[in-house]
Amino acid sequence: MKRLILFLLCTVILNLTARAQAPVAQAPQTITAIRAGRLIDPEAGTATANQVILVQGTRIRQIGANLPIPPGATVVDLSGFSVLPGLVDAHNHLALTYKTDPENNIYYLTYVLDSTAIRAIQAVSNGMQMLSSGFTVVRDLGNNGNYADTALRVAIEQGWVPGPTIINSGIIIGGMGGQFTPTPEMAKDHNIVYPEYIDADTHDEIVKAVRHNILFGAKVIKVCVDCKPYPYTLEDLKLFVSEAANAGFKVAGHVQTYEGARRAIEAGFWSIEHSGPLNDELHKKMAQKGIWRAGTETPFTNYRGSQQAFDRTVEGMKNAYGNHVPMVFSTDADYYIPGMTRGEVAINFLLSWKAAGIPAKEVLKIMTINGYKVCGIEKERGPIKEGMAADMIAVPGNPLEDIDTLRKVSFVMKDGLVFKKDGVMTPEAFLHGGPVNGWRIR
Ligand SMILES: [Zn+2]
Repeated sequence: MKRLILFLLCTVILNLTARAQAPVAQAPQTITAIRAGRLIDPEAGTATANQVILVQGTRIRQIGANLPIPPGATVVDLSGFSVLPGLVDAHNHLALTYKTDPENNIYYLTYVLDSTAIRAIQAVSNGMQMLSSGFTVVRDLGNNGNYADTALRVAIEQGWVPGPTIINSGIIIGGMGGQFTPTPEMAKDHNIVYPEYIDADTHDEIVKAVRHNILFGAKVIKVCVDCKPYPYTLEDLKLFVSEAANAGFKVAGHVQTYEGARRAIEAGFWSIEHSGPLNDELHKKMAQKGIWRAGTETPFTNYRGSQQAFDRTVEGMKNAYGNHVPMVFSTDADYYIPGMTRGEVAINFLLSWKAAGIPAKEVLKIMTINGYKVCGIEKERGPIKEGMAADMIAVPGNPLEDIDTLRKVSFVMKDGLVFKKDGVMTPEAFLHGGPVNGWRIR
């Protein structure tokens, strides 16, 4: 009997092994030939006329002026357009959408009302809306419930759903309470801070929290540096950096005070999130150390912001640009504006970059090349070069001269698949930045 069981067990294991080693079914290596009227290189700030881009499977195979188009290739005629690499939003939260109704834009209530499951589904929709606006990469920095961001990344990477490449942080790590102000009953009896934040106050807890996120699929570590009156010390912040580096990870720091920002810069954080406390002195230090500035510069519009806050934001951007701080385009656009998609809310942040007087050529580089670099993907994805992932967008006009043309993305290719063509995303009519049919539908 024992022998029989052993035999059966061995057979099962052998079968499983054989299955694991069986060749994975490959999608046919279809070839798409794109005729680009103007091919933009945001790194060099140049455009080349009448190029053909051959895409095979998920990658760019060849680029040239007079390439023969292989028989059987699908031809996409963008000869009247500029073709350029996809855009990057370096700070968003796709599995969070707070609203005026019912939560008065207080995301503490969003977290109570919306399950991780519904937020993960919402994240898929938000991802598609971002992709439709030309964002092929999104750095997603927490506030995503119990790892809805990992679920989104995995679903996109597995090809279940279309969406941008996601660089996600898992759960934000912070001093006790995170960015919440819970009652003792809610925090202690109901553990309401987690999973929106991981409390990490001691060095042991910091190490555990970093590992916790890596274990559950984070690709970058996000720290709330100074969200509470008990900010992290320089020593704490250095521990975050070394523990993350041990696994090959970078650390992004949410800052809201001068002292917090100063310590995060001193500790060698990879990126500083938000720009409120950044002044001339801190900008100079960031430039010197090559620390990314994800400033999340909210424009003043009829749906958000104030003139006073916007003036400060723009002054900060001018100062950072003048000091040669490495900047990225980042929005923190995690709210619902009726009548706008998540992508439209994000691209409207161009208002801030224009107000800061940063030339179109530079803004385009910031929205592409710098974005790939802050995400650490620039060797595999982003630039339109042979061997790279086939991600690209097309707009009318020339974005090197008129940055607003990025508002008119008419074509999007992601991983070699056409997601949007002639300005039409097939499922677009279904997608919204929030519950157009009412949040009460449960
Ligand atoms: Zn944020």
